Amino acid sequence: MLYPQAMNRLIHELARLPGVGPKTAQRLAFHLLTLSTEEVGKIAEVMLEAKHKIGFCQICGRLTEVSPCVVCTDPNRSNILCVVEDAKDVVALERTRAFKGRYHVLGGAISPLEGIGPDDLRIRELLQRVTEENFEEVVIATDPNVEGEATALYLGKILKPFEVKVTRLARGLPVGGDLEYTDAITLGKAFEGRVEF
Ligand code: ZN
Repeated sequence: MLYPQAMNRLIHELARLPGVGPKTAQRLAFHLLTLSTEEVGKIAEVMLEAKHKIGFCQICGRLTEVSPCVVCTDPNRSNILCVVEDAKDVVALERTRAFKGRYHVLGGAISPLEGIGPDDLRIRELLQRVTEENFEEVVIATDPNVEGEATALYLGKILKPFEVKVTRLARGLPVGGDLEYTDAITLGKAFEGRVEF
């Protein structure tokens, strides 16, 4: 065995984090061991604190410390609903300041390859909200890639029978990209130039 057992366990757990390969996991483990007990304790503490305090909003599905979240309970938000794939996309859209409405997080995108169908996403919840909340517009802001496109088309189709204007972001976002990594100006422009389905 190359390392003491506790070290192996640490590397193993770190390597399970997204974007962390075995080499980075090893580097992080070595780094953690050079820190003081207090410093390591602080990292462990903030991780647990975030896990205990943060959950998903029962209405929109974004990350929040209180549910319903501050966006869902804000009376100054417009009744335009923006549908996104991930909670991270909400952060990206808020950063553009182009939108002051409400959100609905799907929790992913339709992907036959990965076995993700409409029933695996928060689409039933979306239809229920559209029925009950009287939105003046639903903006579909899925990622500009194959899965996002498939999801947008599907949503456009099932929202058709509802008496609500359905739009989507303007083209021009980097194809194959992710809203989360799109710069605020480009994303803001795509939002402002949204087109009707
Ligand atoms: Zn919410």
